[in-house]
Amino acid sequence: MRWAKAEGCRVWDAEGREYLDLSGGFGVAALGHRNPHIQAAIAEQQVVHALGDLAEAEVTFRLRERLERPAKLGVTGEDAVEIALRTSLLATGNPGIVAFDGAYHGTGLLALAATAFERFRAPFSAWLPGPVHRRTFGEDPGPLPSDAGCVIVEPVQGRGGARVPPDGFLERLRERCDEAGALLIADEVYCGLGRTGVLWRSGDLADVICTGKALGGGLPLSAALFRPGLEEVWELGPEDVYTHTHTGSPLACAAALVVLEEVPKLLDRVRKAGERLERDGWNGAGLLRARPGDAEEALRRRVIVVPAGEDGSLVSATPPLTISDDEIEDALERLS
Ligand code: PMP
Repeated sequence: MRWAKAEGCRVWDAEGREYLDLSGGFGVAALGHRNPHIQAAIAEQQVVHALGDLAEAEVTFRLRERLERPAKLGVTGEDAVEIALRTSLLATGNPGIVAFDGAYHGTGLLALAATAFERFRAPFSAWLPGPVHRRTFGEDPGPLPSDAGCVIVEPVQGRGGARVPPDGFLERLRERCDEAGALLIADEVYCGLGRTGVLWRSGDLADVICTGKALGGGLPLSAALFRPGLEEVWELGPEDVYTHTHTGSPLACAAALVVLEEVPKLLDRVRKAGERLERDGWNGAGLLRARPGDAEEALRRRVIVVPAGEDGSLVSATPPLTISDDEIEDALERLS
């Protein structure tokens, strides 16, 4: 399917057929596609591109002030994960990564090393960094291996199938990290920024929070958010040794300021909308949901969902947080 137009929770193909987008463009369109406030914020920018780590646009500065923690900005979600994992090596000197079954952290080699999806890993297995110690999602990992620099976890697994761990899991991970002097990295690229009905699913527990997807309001933007002081491990000399040309893109930062303003107003709504999906057999939290299904069949019924689960047997729903009751009922009706 090719998208010709996307607005709010709806998408139209080239033949003018209308679809309800329960994927929210992989969870990116938290405020809906082509949100007018985001469009306006992008249009009014006086600097379209600055000099990344050498010179930031005014609006990039403003975004840094608005984020609750010191941040290192990236372009894709995977960048945020890469920054977080490198931070653990810089901070602890230990290369070991503790990661979980069902985890998805991105497709670059370092993020892929932590990712569990075998079909993504297998072609590149000869090049994957490590050591990576795989543990069972939702269970106490036990004392961490002596080489562990970090534990990386999705507080709710996204592509793994909206898997919610038992209460106390993150707290247990925090304790295990404290015992071992390792960092706790919460990969909130999918589940963060209000998607589960709270702004950050890991609250104040993590040393580094990774965010992406929804952050840029449709433009590519991500960030690793550090426990204050931790960002200092990146002071490695006059040159930034981990950067990208488009780091801190002013247009994306302008959009992100709108996202950060609007998302907190939607949290009650997200919880309520999530309960409606739960009643229809969609597991998960807030508006991060999955259930067994077939994405192709859903598309024939004019609903966009994406395959999920390590074996691809699930479909996931991560609609705009702005989805209305009528749109939810319409989507469920089309799928029933
Ligand atoms: N972490 C998680 C939890 C994700 O769901 C994803 C993308 N689905 C990523 C990282 C990677 O983000 P990106 O595709 O933007 O690199």
